[in-house]
Amino acid sequence: MSPFRRSKNARPIFFLHTTLLLLVVFFFFRERSIDEDTRMTFTNHQFRLFLLYYRLKNKQNRGALLAEMMKLGVPVPPGFTIPASMCETYESCRVEGTDAVEDIWEDVEFAISETEKELGKKFGGEGDAEPLLFSVRSGAAVSMPGMLETVLNIGLNKSVCEKIAAANGGANKRFAYDAYRRLLDMFGSVVFEMDRSQFEMELERVKEKKGVEKDTELSAEDLMEVCDAYEQVYLKVDPNRPFPSDPTMQLKLAIEAVFESWNKPRAKAYREIAGLSSLGGTAVNVQSMVFGNLGETSGTGVCFTRRPDTGEKIIFGEYLINAQGEDVVAGIRTPEPISTLFEKMPVVAQSLQDTLDKLEMHFKNMQDIEFTIDSGKLFILQTRNGKRNGVAAINVAVDMYEEGLITKAEAIEMVELDHLNQLIHPAFKETEEEYEDANISTGLAASPGAAVGRVAFSSEDVLAMKKANPKEGVILCRVETSAEDVSGMHASNGFLTQNGGMTSHAAVVARGWGLPCVSGVATMRVDEAKKEAYFYSSESISPANLIATVKSGDWISLDGGEGFVINRKVEMNAAGEGVYEQHPKMAKFMSWVEEAKSLSVYANADTASELKLAMYFGAQGIGLCRTEHMLLASAERVSISRSMILAKDDASRVEILDKKMGPMLKDDFQALFEQAGNLPVTIRLLDPPLHEFLPTELELKDEKFAADLAKKCSLESADALREMCEAKREKNPMMGLRGVRVGILEPKITIMQTKAIVNAIIDAYIATGVHPNGKIMVPLVSTTEEFENQRALIFQTIQEVFNARASEVSRADVLGPDNREIPIGMMCETPRACIVSGNLVEEGAAFMSFGSNDLSQLSFGFSRDDASSFLEKYKEFGIIETDPFNTIDVDGVGELIKMSVRGARAVNSKIPVSVCGEHGGDEKSIEFFHEAGLNVVSCSAFRVLGARLAAAKANIANPKSSTGGAGPR
Ligand code: PEP
Ligand code: MG
Repeated sequence: MSPFRRSKNARPIFFLHTTLLLLVVFFFFRERSIDEDTRMTFTNHQFRLFLLYYRLKNKQNRGALLAEMMKLGVPVPPGFTIPASMCETYESCRVEGTDAVEDIWEDVEFAISETEKELGKKFGGEGDAEPLLFSVRSGAAVSMPGMLETVLNIGLNKSVCEKIAAANGGANKRFAYDAYRRLLDMFGSVVFEMDRSQFEMELERVKEKKGVEKDTELSAEDLMEVCDAYEQVYLKVDPNRPFPSDPTMQLKLAIEAVFESWNKPRAKAYREIAGLSSLGGTAVNVQSMVFGNLGETSGTGVCFTRRPDTGEKIIFGEYLINAQGEDVVAGIRTPEPISTLFEKMPVVAQSLQDTLDKLEMHFKNMQDIEFTIDSGKLFILQTRNGKRNGVAAINVAVDMYEEGLITKAEAIEMVELDHLNQLIHPAFKETEEEYEDANISTGLAASPGAAVGRVAFSSEDVLAMKKANPKEGVILCRVETSAEDVSGMHASNGFLTQNGGMTSHAAVVARGWGLPCVSGVATMRVDEAKKEAYFYSSESISPANLIATVKSGDWISLDGGEGFVINRKVEMNAAGEGVYEQHPKMAKFMSWVEEAKSLSVYANADTASELKLAMYFGAQGIGLCRTEHMLLASAERVSISRSMILAKDDASRVEILDKKMGPMLKDDFQALFEQAGNLPVTIRLLDPPLHEFLPTELELKDEKFAADLAKKCSLESADALREMCEAKREKNPMMGLRGVRVGILEPKITIMQTKAIVNAIIDAYIATGVHPNGKIMVPLVSTTEEFENQRALIFQTIQEVFNARASEVSRADVLGPDNREIPIGMMCETPRACIVSGNLVEEGAAFMSFGSNDLSQLSFGFSRDDASSFLEKYKEFGIIETDPFNTIDVDGVGELIKMSVRGARAVNSKIPVSVCGEHGGDEKSIEFFHEAGLNVVSCSAFRVLGARLAAAKANIANPKSSTGGAGPR
């Protein structure tokens, strides 16, 4: 039985608007229910006119945008859309072995007949009417450039070709066979997954025989020969699978191929990288063909309403005369810049300009369009919001607001976190003069930014090099890139391609991801098989002109803003330096972000220089200073920490704490307070998972190392040290003697740290005259008794330090006129702490901060250190959508957080609540924290800009009154 059961009396309802110039019909499935077999059933399976598109939530898919363009009166070739919901159904039917497309075929036939009526043409070419051809394209809710399939010229076979050829006194014969050979090639490679090079070889053979270089020089008869050869290629590959000459069969198979492309590894990889895992599927758009290959008054192109690399308000794109769509993006022929269209076809160019203005005004965003000129008439095949890099994103957002096109909130919505991240990418430190000698070529400046790395000639090599040396840059060098390269492209630091223009695959992907790209390097030849690239002094390629050979693994540098290829490692600037100076509109944009957000954004920082950078990015304080990071900062400090942990007795431990660790930490804390001024600085007491501090088994095998360390720990021998280490080693260090437990068992450690913090506060005040705003945070608390134990000790130590230094300076002087207390708060990192948060607040916790890393670890029971080994598989199997250590698990951990906030606020409605785990810099998690009523998110310095943007977006979507930076104070 078919999984689709259609109610027999549910006849299609048509609302025909014959006055509408162009018609897009789409299928709209309603009233899904589950039948006895728990399979999907469509009980009312109807056509709707395009106007119903506006009921669809996501208006960014190709079909919905085509419908919207039609409504605007933009010339769009008529057609229809099979909605994305069908893609999921297709997949489940495929698994079950049933035919989903067959089931909707009656409706497809209806849509075809409506399109035929609209155009007065006939699909399949019967009768007197002109033959109707279709393109079949994908249409996901979010654009996935090059990832999904397209088939053009559906509906051709030899007899249809002859019919086209016969019309117009035979003038279109060449065109007909050119379109047919394209269909044979595209259909074979996309639908039957045949190796495209087999078609290319045949084409080259005929070109050679005819003594021509370009495809455009082949005559109608030559192209007929190419078509015959292509048909033979099908039979050579599989004698039982010839090219299907039946147009209906072509259309059906092409629709299936588009659905199938959704689940191909490259598309899955792209969605994973782009965070689109929740997208359900692609729609299929079946559109009547218009032809850019009808001679010198026809052409095809792609363009943006503004430059996607700088945001400048100027049409930016490329086109090819006498060509079909995919020729431009595929980089097979070198396209011309759009500016020349104004000279060659001024009327069409003006109409294109007017259409672009209209589209931008309507969609209130920069548009990326595909167009075709069919015998002097312009058609728009697609529009969508254009992908852009970080620089363009900021500039377009600010300009559009200033042009009065959008609001500030819309400007904020337009910029993505990744855009901001791109802006803080490193740039070359060396000047052009300094690296001039090594500059071996200049290609197209396809995507700005600087990259330094070892050269890899395949996607696989990029991944292998990154695996071997994750910290080293890798530059992918190809003749041209394709969708198959996406995983390697994502892992690499920049792309260099021999072919391709500003809209080639490499250029589009690079701009989307903010990676540098130099494309169309005419003086370079890449031998992918040999893994070598050859650079010549001019475009005339000859051994005499060879100036450099770059091999796999060699270092090169790219300047994607200038198109330079430099044959060595160029020195880079530290990331983030000068971002406001380099991008003048950035400060204005971030001031809007600041106005729009209600959450405060703090930084996780352990050094004054980290804090300085975080403050430059707009951090409003420190939400987490991890004391143990200070102790791991150098080999000497690690050794001091080890000798403290492994000290043979109390006296030795106290000696190390008071003489070494205390003064060292005091200086570090003071530097932080001085850098912070009066911004909050939250210092978390030592939380040392023991395995991070104890010597490894390998180190202990080294006799000299063991003997030295034994001496530092006042232990009599290396063996005594080994015994001590063995005794301390834990089976589950993440659940062992760490956090609050350390201070309870070794109060001297808490006392030492508290003294260091308070002395640092006093000394910072003396040095600067500014009242420091320090807070002390107790980690990994589970019970009220644990917290009370430490709170009392810290409280008492604070008094003692102030008393001891009373002759130098008064407490009121240091802490400010309201003589406030130094707040003592707790980290909520265990499920139990979430459950008893109210009691903990009653016990005197002055603030709370969710340690969402440990909280996720302990809620799931997944080890932070090892879970990645199976979480990848979990994602692959669809058990989890995202890694819960990156994005908060709203249903489980999120509920615990909400319960904790409720409990805490029931006792103290004003208690400041923050989060300082990794999730504090993640966009989706920030949306949740905003909704859950937290006051502060805290994240690493480099995530601060993004976190501010995410906080603003969350507040725009779900407005809350500003907490005015009320952090854990
Ligand atoms: C946490 O657990 O979320 C946290 C911030 O603490 P750490 O990562 O240092 O354990
Ligand atoms: Mg923790």
